[in-house]
Amino acid sequence: MNAIEAARHYFNQAADHMGLSQNMRKLLLTPKREAKVQIPMQMDNGEIGTFIGYRVQHDDARGPMKGGLRFHPEVDADEVVTLAQLMTWKTAVVNIPYGGAKGGIAVDIKKLSRGELERITRGFIDNIHDMIGPDKDIPAPDMGTNAQVMAWAVNQYEKYHGFSPACITGKPLELHGSEGREEATGRGVVIVTEAVLKQLKKTLSGSTVALQGFGNVGSFAARFLHEAGAKVVAVTDVAGGVRNSEGLDIPALTRWSADHNGLAGFPGSESVTNDELLRSDVDLLIPAALGGVITEEVARDVRASVVVEAANNPTRAEADEIFHKRNVVVVPDILANAGGVTVSYFEWVQNRQHFRWELARVRKELDRVMVDSFDRVWNIAQEKHVSLRTAAYIIGIGRVGRATVLGGI
Ligand code: NAD
Repeated sequence: MNAIEAARHYFNQAADHMGLSQNMRKLLLTPKREAKVQIPMQMDNGEIGTFIGYRVQHDDARGPMKGGLRFHPEVDADEVVTLAQLMTWKTAVVNIPYGGAKGGIAVDIKKLSRGELERITRGFIDNIHDMIGPDKDIPAPDMGTNAQVMAWAVNQYEKYHGFSPACITGKPLELHGSEGREEATGRGVVIVTEAVLKQLKKTLSGSTVALQGFGNVGSFAARFLHEAGAKVVAVTDVAGGVRNSEGLDIPALTRWSADHNGLAGFPGSESVTNDELLRSDVDLLIPAALGGVITEEVARDVRASVVVEAANNPTRAEADEIFHKRNVVVVPDILANAGGVTVSYFEWVQNRQHFRWELARVRKELDRVMVDSFDRVWNIAQEKHVSLRTAAYIIGIGRVGRATVLGGI
């Protein structure tokens, strides 16, 4: 099953439990609008580059649509549709007043200069500025994009529409960003990890963790895991990674990775491949990079008893079945990584109120949203004897479905 088939499969598993009609399923799954745009750009060497960008607005029954911008060579129409759908269920699971969207450009940012990255971002916004906006659709960072890219994006949007910081979230603090946004997804991952361990009568302190991905989500997740006393024993990025069975010194590894542009060669560690990392002998496995990395074969070999999906779509549908049979507890992406969109919502609220929250308030509100959402998902899973993923979809689909019916067709 590819990613889009898997998303439909997870949706249908929950829809079957809910007794949802075929017509309602079709209505909820069909994206509201899909844009595919050409982004022509003058490259630094004088050549013309032509790139393809996408923005998919999946559903707005519960509010303006929300979802990240991914700059990655594998971005295509199917991936963006799938991720936009996930955003619809995710915003509903954590009960923030948004729908779902996603966008991206098929490009390898490692091959772009800083100037080219800025030009491609501005060119993309030129194409989609009429579709997005504070009350319509609010982009944010995802893989390959960051606060700087959001700063260029909002600046370009404002050339058409005037001062509108709430049109994009994940901005730098100096440009109406929020305290705690950068760390939010990784922090949220650790909050739900603590919550699931509590239900399993375990603690983070002393638990061993293997973490794939050391970008925005992975590096902050590692930091908060380490602070909570967990032993992060293996970490990888796109080029492979490092392990130490006694636990890696995460603050030192973070400095090393920044200084050396990667994890390789970290003193006191041995190297590990991505494949080995997923099969590590650990309590917790946290994929925080690409989708689709946990295949059927990998799922059979996973030794962790808990998988927390920090990345979007990391587990293939066939692998999910294997986890279910093997009693591996999976905290699904639409709950586990919802901390980012939750603090994006706080940023949007602050922008609209022209009032800044302190970091302590952002963290406190995030804790509350993540713990309440986790508890609700856990309770539905126990009540209905379903996986945490199906429980999360039941909540998400239920909220979107009710809003759709109440609003009327
Ligand atoms: P990022 O670009 O900051 O980091 C990505 C990391 O993955 C890097 O360490 C990179 O080296 C690694 N990576 C890339 N390809 C890999 C491969 N083939 N094998 C192993 N590692 C690989 O991205 P991010 O923002 O940290 O996002 C990571 C995941 O989390 C994505 O699935 C994204 O959709 C999801 N997510 C991000 C946010 C957010 O707020 N940034 C929110 C929700 C979900």
